[in-house]
Amino acid sequence: MSTNMPPSQSRTELIEAAWTEFVTFLRQSGARITSSRKTIFEHILRRKDHFRADEVAEALAHGRNRVSRGTVYRTLALMVEYGLIRQIRDSDTHVHYEQTLGQPHHEHMICEDCGAFIEFDDDEINRLLQAACDRIGFAQNTHRVVVFGRCATCQKKPQKRKTHHT
Ligand SMILES: [Zn+2]
Ligand SMILES: [Zn+2]
Repeated sequence: MSTNMPPSQSRTELIEAAWTEFVTFLRQSGARITSSRKTIFEHILRRKDHFRADEVAEALAHGRNRVSRGTVYRTLALMVEYGLIRQIRDSDTHVHYEQTLGQPHHEHMICEDCGAFIEFDDDEINRLLQAACDRIGFAQNTHRVVVFGRCATCQKKPQKRKTHHT
């Protein structure tokens, strides 16, 4: 275990309640309910970072409760479908995920040099997007804003030469 603080009781209760509801969803989807899925479910809902599927697979590949890569990928897909995880694309090929259980709404800035994910929230952006929806008569459920560029640290490093295919 790499975490310093014991998980708070409320977080554990929140995860247990979410698991009970997820089991209902699994049943309705005709998916199997297994201890491996529970292991993956808990691991993901305790993560605070932006992660790739293979990072989850790697984290759960060893030890007594190890789970197979295939089970990780299938369970991830089910959790996305259920709405407990959202996908954040940082390029056409690399998908990052984050869990959303009890997490406040936020947007992302992604550094294209070092891959840093920076979270921010902005009332003005939220207000403008809602105004745009009102104008068009669109009922907003949620929104995502992703800004691509270079973080403050990378701006101080010498600019990398871009590779051009000609
Ligand atoms: Zn950076
Ligand atoms: Zn985030």
